[in-house]
Amino acid sequence: MQRYQMLIDGKWVDAISGSSFETTNPYTGKAWATIPRAGEADADLAVRAAHRALTSGPWATMSATGRGALLRKLADILTEEAASLAEIDVRDNGKLLVETIGALRYAPQFYYFAAGLADKSDGSVLPLDRPGIFAYTRKEPIGVVVGITPWNSPLLIAASKISMALAAGCTFVLKPSEHTSASSLELARIFERAGFPPGVFNVVTGFGNEVGDPLVRHPLVAKVTLTGGEITGRRINELAAADFKSVDLELGGKSPNIVFPDANLADAVNSVASGIFSASGQSCIAGSRLLLEDSIHDAFVERLLASVRNLKLGDPLDPTVQIGPVTTRPQYERILGLINGAKAEGATCVLGGEALPGDGLFVKPTIFIDVRPNMQIAQEEVFGPVLSVIRFKDEEEALAIANGTRYGLGAGVWTGDMARAFRMSARIQAGTVWINMYRTISFMTPFGGYKHSGIGRENGAEAIRSFQQTKTIMLNHAAVIPTSVNNRLE
Ligand code: NAD
Repeated sequence: MQRYQMLIDGKWVDAISGSSFETTNPYTGKAWATIPRAGEADADLAVRAAHRALTSGPWATMSATGRGALLRKLADILTEEAASLAEIDVRDNGKLLVETIGALRYAPQFYYFAAGLADKSDGSVLPLDRPGIFAYTRKEPIGVVVGITPWNSPLLIAASKISMALAAGCTFVLKPSEHTSASSLELARIFERAGFPPGVFNVVTGFGNEVGDPLVRHPLVAKVTLTGGEITGRRINELAAADFKSVDLELGGKSPNIVFPDANLADAVNSVASGIFSASGQSCIAGSRLLLEDSIHDAFVERLLASVRNLKLGDPLDPTVQIGPVTTRPQYERILGLINGAKAEGATCVLGGEALPGDGLFVKPTIFIDVRPNMQIAQEEVFGPVLSVIRFKDEEEALAIANGTRYGLGAGVWTGDMARAFRMSARIQAGTVWINMYRTISFMTPFGGYKHSGIGRENGAEAIRSFQQTKTIMLNHAAVIPTSVNNRLE
């Protein structure tokens, strides 16, 4: 068993209480490491360390160019370590190694991009309606940022948050998911190697209610950025409102892939399959609803079944395996519960619909047809390998179904008619719309949700703004102080 410690204020420490918990491999069902079980006192230590690093010491006075250079160094080491970090995540979350390595080789790009932005994100000199005053704005770091991440892509998701926060000059406390903490603790080692001053980047591990909650409530925290579920998002938004903290919430989805008859159907079949079955469906942008125009419904379902019927389930480290286990037992049970609910509601299961016997947490790739838009399986995020197929007759009906859930994270539109593609993409309520493609994310393009899928946008150059606050400065340079400048009653 490997024993991990947390990084707080540049020191490797256990939880103050001395408690720890075991992290389990979902493929073998066996615990492989112990992780510190932090609580309120640890949260306080980490936030105070981050606050000290923000307000005094080398980070507080470092130039933005210097911050960029450190971020680039971090990205260089991260690139070297991508393969070993990927193995750690696979041990914790069971996602395929090939998929995880791809994500981790991409993660450094977020840091390089933010590093470049660090010294290019300037304030401005402002025209003013009064003479004799020079007015300008400064973009200042918002303060201590708490980042809370889920288990499905721990380091890629963390990269969006950490890179921009540090480029902006903030300091950071990361609280990874209790199911996948190890890779974030390895990331802390990389921060050490890159030479970040103590307290700039801290990691505390443990459970949401025990250490996440106190982090969010801490008065020295200025901003919370979460990727997680809807219930957690609501809780964090409520807690943060108490003292007006800024929040970014990247939450769940029930994203539609909408296929029209004039689309390249072979491409659509492939993308629909990978859009739902990659990562065993444990992706916030999983294309979990397939909307098919009536005239192509039956043939499309046939082609889709032919392409996914023989997907290989098994060891996520085996490069020939196509579907790994789901990550946690509660999640596994929730998926099976929703599958049984769909059957009870009258949806027809044409593939899978059950668990694979054995120790690993495997759910067979599952497809339901005859799904009506108001069924639970068409409304709730499953976060598992379950696709709901819904028919539509025309564009208006497709739009109504696509927009008819409380979520709005992603959507795919498949059509050869570009006028239709533009019409649909303008009216779909989702943070990202893909046309004749699906599920591509870049560090250069804003990402986030409409409606219950979240608040705020990550990635893209604009993202740095959410870690800054604007200060206006006015300087009187008139020979005689204009009366309107004086702070006196007029
Ligand atoms: P979760 O909400 O259960 O947990 C996410 C994180 O929040 C964990 O670190 C957890 O410990 C922490 N947390 C829980 N309660 C907390 C509290 N009261 N205070 C502070 N922190 C708390 O989510 P999960 O099960 O780990 O991940 C799955 C969810 O994440 C899905 O809904 C999925 O759609 C969503 N997700 C969204 C995106 C996106 O970018 N929009 C990406 C990946 C996953």
